[in-house]
Amino acid sequence: MMQMNDRRPDVIVVGAGLHGLSAALHLARAGLKPLVLEKDYPGRHASGVNAGGVRRLGRHLAEVPLSAVAMTMWHNIADLVGDDCGFVRCGQIKIAETEDELAKLKKRAREVQAIGYDHEEIIGQDELREHIPAIARHCVGAMICRDDGAALPFRTTAAFAYRARSLGVEILESHPVTAIRRDAGQWHVTAAGRQFEAPLLVNAAGAWAGHLAALAGDPVPLQPQAPMLMITERVAPFIKPVVGATGRTLSFKQFDNGTVLIGGGLRGKAFPERNITTIKLAAMRTSAQTVGALFPQMSDARIVRFWAGIEAIMPDEIPVLGKSPNAEGLYHSFGYSAHGFQLSPVTGRIIADLVMHGETDLPIEAFRADRFNSSEDTGIARIA
Ligand SMILES: Cc1cc2nc3c(=O)[nH]c(=O)nc-3n(C[C@H](O)[C@H](O)[C@H](O)COP(=O)(O)OP(=O)(O)OC[C@H]3O[C@@H](n4cnc5c(N)ncnc54)[C@H](O)[C@@H]3O)c2cc1C
Repeated sequence: MMQMNDRRPDVIVVGAGLHGLSAALHLARAGLKPLVLEKDYPGRHASGVNAGGVRRLGRHLAEVPLSAVAMTMWHNIADLVGDDCGFVRCGQIKIAETEDELAKLKKRAREVQAIGYDHEEIIGQDELREHIPAIARHCVGAMICRDDGAALPFRTTAAFAYRARSLGVEILESHPVTAIRRDAGQWHVTAAGRQFEAPLLVNAAGAWAGHLAALAGDPVPLQPQAPMLMITERVAPFIKPVVGATGRTLSFKQFDNGTVLIGGGLRGKAFPERNITTIKLAAMRTSAQTVGALFPQMSDARIVRFWAGIEAIMPDEIPVLGKSPNAEGLYHSFGYSAHGFQLSPVTGRIIADLVMHGETDLPIEAFRADRFNSSEDTGIARIA
């Protein structure tokens, strides 16, 4: 009798970042045999080096329903992957420094309420100071998502990979996919000089996914970019929630060991064809100065490390997620535009729903691969 590991794969997943691993894990839970082909190793890119922010706060409205389901999954993440992934429900807060900024936050909270969600709450100056006693005196209020939080990215990716393997998923590292071809109801995939076949293919290749999508007849204007992060030496504990600002590009949090992680939208330079990034130090300095403006006691903290990861950014900053409009048996899950960590538990469930039942109960129409086709100048980039 054929053993589980001898079975030919039902589905090939390209990419062992969180979205590929989530797809493989959920497909295995549904009874399929996935094979994951990864050019480096699980968590080598965005999924392993991000800021670990698990936030519904400030999401594009199209992502809110998915983000809400994902947050419930994060609160029980050990049920899915057998590890708590270092998740803490520390809350996320977006600070308003002026009355105008506070008005913007209030407007935004009303928009989210209008589509049926109440996780974004507005708080005044007094409650803001209760949450963050060290905040600069000029801050007038904030938006808070009390049940949002943060987790540890590399540990999370390792947990997804471990659980996927325990369910029979095969993950082949150092297997860059260089060609795909559809013939006689099968995907023929070339990787590391070997040939693989399966009726189904999932494109979860992160910043490199545009190339595979174009090969399959779904060109998309994906731009690989390099979000940057930096971390300080240990400083006395002064903040629990993850904090962002409304009028400046900033997001930061303090770990239990005292170090402070600072990021929030600043980008270095990505070289996806060489697997590397470079840092823009001047932009990092601006971020560090912003932290000093909001938290005066941080002005003298020393930065001990910088880095940047390679991430797939779409022009509308929402992902490509769902069945290919043009190629049979192909599913896309990429383009998470620097906020895909939080969505990762649910995107694999969506891919499994689509594969097993042909539909999902979550709204994904906004994420179609062909949504850019009507615009005159799509700026479509093909990655060499
Ligand atoms: C610095 C930084 C900070 C971030 N902070 C946050 C945050 O706080 N909160 C949040 O929600 N999100 C955050 N993000 C975004 C989040 O990390 C990403 O959206 C998410 O990890 C993307 O996962 P992925 O699986 O699509 O891509 P990746 O993790 O990049 O995985 C794709 C994988 O595909 C592999 N691959 C590519 N091409 C091929 C090929 N041809 N053959 C085989 N394998 C291939 C790659 O090697 C890679 O391992 C941040 C991102 C960065 C870079």
